[in-house]
Amino acid sequence: MGALRRKLSRAGLSGLLVTHLPDVCYLCGFTGSSAALAVTRRAARLFTDGRYAIQANEEVKAARVQIGSSSPAVAAVQWLAAQPGVETAGYDPTRTTVAELANWRAALPARLRRSFLSALPAPFVELLRCVKDQDELALMAEAAHLGCRLFDHILKFIRPGIPELEVAAELEHRARLLGAEGMSFETIVASGARSALPHGRATEQPLPRRGFLTLDFGIILKGYCSDMTRTVFLGKPKPGERHAYQSVLEAQQAAVAAVTAGISCGEVDEAARSVLRRQRLAEAFTHSTGHGVGLEIHELPRVGAGQATRLAAGMVITIEPGIYLPGRYGVRIEDMVTVTRNGGEVLTHSPKALIEL
Ligand code: ZN
Ligand code: ZN
Repeated sequence: MGALRRKLSRAGLSGLLVTHLPDVCYLCGFTGSSAALAVTRRAARLFTDGRYAIQANEEVKAARVQIGSSSPAVAAVQWLAAQPGVETAGYDPTRTTVAELANWRAALPARLRRSFLSALPAPFVELLRCVKDQDELALMAEAAHLGCRLFDHILKFIRPGIPELEVAAELEHRARLLGAEGMSFETIVASGARSALPHGRATEQPLPRRGFLTLDFGIILKGYCSDMTRTVFLGKPKPGERHAYQSVLEAQQAAVAAVTAGISCGEVDEAARSVLRRQRLAEAFTHSTGHGVGLEIHELPRVGAGQATRLAAGMVITIEPGIYLPGRYGVRIEDMVTVTRNGGEVLTHSPKALIEL
């Protein structure tokens, strides 16, 4: 909250309305699904409804809790407007619908309707969130480690003939048994020609006797997301398939090696992309190299072509180049990497040499 208030002062804002739930959780610890946080230079107040009275009092730190029956955001806006010395309150336009903004304005006294709420030019809290502190880094390392244990487990389970859905179900069941609160996104199990779909959700298709199998999954542990991808081979790969895998692996390792505080996200992306370009596979690499990860599965920074944002120590990003050859196969390898002052620390330590099952 201290860092946020310094940012508020610098931006010349006397108040802030926070409605994006991961931002609310980050600032005051509340994990319920209905909340708004109002912050001034002196005070902070969390608004939620009666269902969360007990939970809010248990979880919330650094803010007073106010339970109400109206919309938490409307209550937060009205509270902000009633605080002495608060002339304007910033809100995040990327997390606000047109209808919400109209509602908030309508709840204000007539003289404040036009000018009180002010759209923030940049995502305020999300920018704070992308640099993790020591406690967060420890949790993220733990989440990543749980992901690796799941990968070890699923390797023993995989065999030709079982449906992709069963692989996903086994992974998710085991995740809960190991303590995960849930999955951080829909588990991707894409086998054979389906591995050419970057987001191939598990289907009833049985695993083939031979072909690639891409597993992209993540868990949530104490609020923090993990994210990793491994592509394995069922049966014996042909030289072309082996070469494709090696090319992605080389690209992935080049990007991981490029990670360090101060480098731009675009340069990290280029480290992966240039390897695939040399292999004439650049056109098969159809997405960005990675993304920030934390309380949300996708957060800042974006690690893509031309991105000028510079990495800072404490950021956690993914490095996940892939190639996709429609109708044939696809390969992706993804690690979570913590940015340090002089390099990157890989959190997902599962092996990356091609595994043949
Ligand atoms: Zn992933
Ligand atoms: Zn990812």
